[in-house]
Amino acid sequence: MSVLVVVECADGEVKKSSLEVASYGAQVAAQLGTTATAIAVGEANEANLAKLGEQGITKVLYDAEPRLKDFVNNAYTKLIATAAEQESAKIIVLANSNIGAAVGSRLSVRLKASLATNVVELPKISGDQFTVKRGAFSGKAFSDVVLSGDRKIIAVKKNSTEAQHDAGKTAEVTSFSAQLSDADFADAPKQVVMQDQAGGVLLPEAERVVSGGRGMKGPENWGLIEDLAKALGAATACSKPVSDVDWRPHHEHVGQTGITVSPNLYIACGISGAIQHLAGVNSSKVIVVINKDPEAPFFKAADYGIVGDVFDVLPKLTAAVKALN
Ligand SMILES: Cc1cc2nc3c(=O)[nH]c(=O)nc-3n(C[C@H](O)[C@H](O)[C@H](O)COP(=O)(O)OP(=O)(O)OC[C@H]3O[C@@H](n4cnc5c(N)ncnc54)[C@H](O)[C@@H]3O)c2cc1C
Repeated sequence: MSVLVVVECADGEVKKSSLEVASYGAQVAAQLGTTATAIAVGEANEANLAKLGEQGITKVLYDAEPRLKDFVNNAYTKLIATAAEQESAKIIVLANSNIGAAVGSRLSVRLKASLATNVVELPKISGDQFTVKRGAFSGKAFSDVVLSGDRKIIAVKKNSTEAQHDAGKTAEVTSFSAQLSDADFADAPKQVVMQDQAGGVLLPEAERVVSGGRGMKGPENWGLIEDLAKALGAATACSKPVSDVDWRPHHEHVGQTGITVSPNLYIACGISGAIQHLAGVNSSKVIVVINKDPEAPFFKAADYGIVGDVFDVLPKLTAAVKALN
């Protein structure tokens, strides 16, 4: 028996959320006295996969089928399920990402496994009792969930755990085939279009995000957001009303009805901090809020707050970042 970790790759790199998941899976394996094997999905590079040893992974399975480069729900599900069967994995750990969320539910049906999403801590294992803590109600509460199935799937919330680094350790990378057929790729997207982003940083994967709300007053002022984003190497984002009135494109709208982001740094400029907005940003590691109203609800969720006018604060902040660069 081993723990199977699903590792997402893009452009040959292992995604940061997957490093966290690899480390989480290795720690669960240590709790159970077993080892953690990874199955790579997406465009992977074998040298980078081998480095997963630093997170405690002992073996990485990699299917070089070129059609697996982009996300295909059925094919990814079958790939992971086949790897789980081969490794007799009782625990499958994946990121609570767009891919993890889509594949996790399908896997749970296919493997008759218990599934917990949005998990924020290592499980508590006591005899047969396997309990995980997960975020609920848009991150407003936590619930302890007992996974009673023989097989268990854990989708780990981004930024909720730190990836361990045991420098120099390597994992064995083994080629693997799930014998996928054309039928497994029947739901493959015909074309994948990447949205244009200021500074070329894609919002869902961005490590830093500068976001504007109605307090920015109009699209003509977005240069202030873009200047700071450029200085920080950040993606730009906005609140829903901003995209509703076409100040910004809809693919920049974050929140309950938009994109969920989990950057290391989220800077909110002139955004009130409504619950529906927070739902999309509250797994950011550090939140900075700039708002002229000291009572703005966003300050309660902030790590750092600046009570001030965005039109005064943003140029100064951008100049300070540029001076540091
Ligand atoms: C079902 C549903 C789903 C929703 N989904 C989403 C969602 O996914 N994402 C989302 O964002 N919203 C969503 N909303 C809307 C949400 O409830 C809020 O209305 C919205 O987030 C408010 O946007 P805002 O903060 O930009 O604007 P406002 O609420 O108008 O806030 C503007 C803020 O800017 C500040 N401000 C004004 N001028 C300045 C200045 N010069 N300098 C500094 N600060 C200034 C103000 O003090 C205020 O706090 C949803 C609502 C519903 C009902």
